[in-house]
Amino acid sequence: MFLRIFRFLRCLTWRRFINLLLAVCDYMRMLCGLKPHTKHKPVFLSVEPANTCNLKCPQCAVGSAKTHPKPQMMTTEMLDMVLKDTCATLLEMNFFFQGEPLLNLNLPELINTAHRKGIYTLCSTNAQTLTAKLAEALVNSGLDRLVVSMDGHTQAAYGQYRVGGDVQRVYDAMRYINDAKKRLGRNTPVVELQCLLLSSTENSLDFFRTNYRRLGADTLTFKTAQFYDYEHGNPLMPTNERHRRYRLTADGTYRIKGRLKKHCWRVVAGAVVDANGGVRPCCFDKIPQHLYGNLHDNSFGEIWRGDKAMSFRQAVLTHRPEIEICQNCTNV
Ligand code: SF4
Repeated sequence: MFLRIFRFLRCLTWRRFINLLLAVCDYMRMLCGLKPHTKHKPVFLSVEPANTCNLKCPQCAVGSAKTHPKPQMMTTEMLDMVLKDTCATLLEMNFFFQGEPLLNLNLPELINTAHRKGIYTLCSTNAQTLTAKLAEALVNSGLDRLVVSMDGHTQAAYGQYRVGGDVQRVYDAMRYINDAKKRLGRNTPVVELQCLLLSSTENSLDFFRTNYRRLGADTLTFKTAQFYDYEHGNPLMPTNERHRRYRLTADGTYRIKGRLKKHCWRVVAGAVVDANGGVRPCCFDKIPQHLYGNLHDNSFGEIWRGDKAMSFRQAVLTHRPEIEICQNCTNV
């Protein structure tokens, strides 16, 4: 925990701090029902290194083929376009969105580009292609935090959601990363073992609680799962109510827990850049339905303050419960 805070604070320059304050002010305006100004630049961004995947997870838009983007890897040139307008004020860059980031063989170089600009970097992976050589390259890239998805501790549990995946590769990947950190004398990336809360993983939770450190993780996270068609339940929905994002109502259907509020920190402070250069409001816009623009047509700065971005932020403020992507969002 202390290491994470230290690595984060290390990135906090005066310009980034002032930009963060401006973003918070804008969010306060939204809380008061006032139109956001967006005088600041993004505080955090997610970029998509690759928009394809090697697995077929049923609740993933890519894995279940709900979206068919043109297969694309993010290039260094595209990342440079994003950083040109944002690096002085950006605090955090997440190297993941929908596809599997490690499929982009240039990933360590992309991460290192952001790291050299003093930005906190984070990547999330299914770790299926994480070899000893790639582990060393990731450690050398300066990556601050690596989230490794492990949805089940046995192949029988893991394979129910991570369709096509091999749990042994995840165990091996955790070892490769730890060996590389020891060999290179580094304490980063901080490794977070993440397990989705599903009916198939509920029997693995105690195992992870007891063994995550032995497996090579620094922290352990259990994450509730998003379901596309949740109203009538899903066989993968956890049986334990506390493990679900959805509550069972009196009429037997499921509703998202909490009340949708007319504000959203993510839409004020961040955005997503997909592998094709599309800029989206947040990671819930998977299809996409609310593209702000594309880096092939405009600069990031123009898109961030463009009409489409401003009108979407305004729409979240005035009628968030009617926006489809916001209806299934935990940012309540
Ligand atoms: S889905 Fe809507 S409420 Fe949720 S993060 Fe995106 S814009 Fe914000």
